[in-house]
Amino acid sequence: MSLRDEVTELLRGLIRLDTVNPPGQETRAAELLRDYLGDSGVRCELLARESGRANLVARLPGSGGGPSLLFLSHTDTVLADPAEWTVGPWSGELRDGQVWGRGALDMKGQVAASAVAIASLAREGFEPAGDLVFAATADEEVGEGVQVGLPWLCSEHPDAVRTDFAVNEGAGDRVVLGGRVFYLCSTAEKMSSPFRLSVHGRSGHASIPAIADNALVKAAPLIERLGAFRADAQLQPELEALLQEVSGSVPPAGEALARARDLDPVLAELIEPLLTLTLSPTIISASNKRNVIPALCDVTVDCRLLPGQTQDEAEQVIRAWLGEGEYDLEWREGHGGTRSTMDSPLWDAVQGFVSQAEPGARALPIVVAGFTDSHWLRAAFGTVAYGFFPMRTMEAELAARLIHSADERVPVDDLELGVRFLRHAAQEVCGAP
Ligand SMILES: [Zn+2]
Repeated sequence: MSLRDEVTELLRGLIRLDTVNPPGQETRAAELLRDYLGDSGVRCELLARESGRANLVARLPGSGGGPSLLFLSHTDTVLADPAEWTVGPWSGELRDGQVWGRGALDMKGQVAASAVAIASLAREGFEPAGDLVFAATADEEVGEGVQVGLPWLCSEHPDAVRTDFAVNEGAGDRVVLGGRVFYLCSTAEKMSSPFRLSVHGRSGHASIPAIADNALVKAAPLIERLGAFRADAQLQPELEALLQEVSGSVPPAGEALARARDLDPVLAELIEPLLTLTLSPTIISASNKRNVIPALCDVTVDCRLLPGQTQDEAEQVIRAWLGEGEYDLEWREGHGGTRSTMDSPLWDAVQGFVSQAEPGARALPIVVAGFTDSHWLRAAFGTVAYGFFPMRTMEAELAARLIHSADERVPVDDLELGVRFLRHAAQEVCGAP
């Protein structure tokens, strides 16, 4: 069977196993992968904190001395409402050269491609210098409460997942900027750092507004101010490298957006959220009685910090923007915000693959605005982790629309391209003695 057919059939099998999280039930996928990999002689173990939620880790041991590489992926998916779909979300139907079903893009396609890459290398007798590892983990989509996926592996089974380099989800989109072709590769992510703004007033009976100090009304101008938030642009290393690659020079931070817009509006869209922290007020609560004027109004704000930016720094910027007032600002949590160097053999492997797959095309470093499991590897082991799964056939815009939505599907051509990339990365990064 060709690798193309092999990855197609494996993905169809994975989609047919419902691993919607919650509850996940990822052990089903781990067992399918174990059986598949076992047939090619790849050593696997299932590591589970809860029996129904196993992680699979497979390994081609290195001969020693070389860098190690991890193919990281997750086997859980978000839910699907069959009523919205053209085909059954767990049918794994093959139609018009595409595999359909929940998880095809996020991210059972990459799970299958990673498994086929390591299995095919094993069959060919590939002997890496450093370990080549494949981890298909549970619970990426929820990841709250008791940890059963990658964070648990990092703390309880660090030897299973500690590598020098890792390839994960997060990017791989093909974009045309200023007439040239680029493939995005994420090397860093923003920190998800929501906060609560509590606006204070004085309660009173709603029939006599003048006797109270309405916290909800006082919150209104602050919310408008949050919505209009602008900060001085900062050019972080990823963005400098991106602008250098696309435009041949690095403009001053304050001119970056305008210059990008001149070159291509798509470029401006791409970099705008990466120039500053961003704020989006999303939840509000005040009085819970119609006839009581609230003494307190709480506004929850989704906030994304630049990689490396601290909450203290951000708080100064936000307070300066809002000005004096009767409010408190309280951080709720902080997730992610880590980066990896772009100066690495893994970057060279991505760049090499891109120019081979499409002559003239270049890889472009990008910071993702969302959280990925790459963060755990960077934080625990200093792993150089990138998000890259090349998509050439499906347009990036369509893929973005289908992820977590109805009629999710992936072209077989892109699955095959992904297998080729992962095999290339293994040979380039951990193949050399
Ligand atoms: Zn995902």
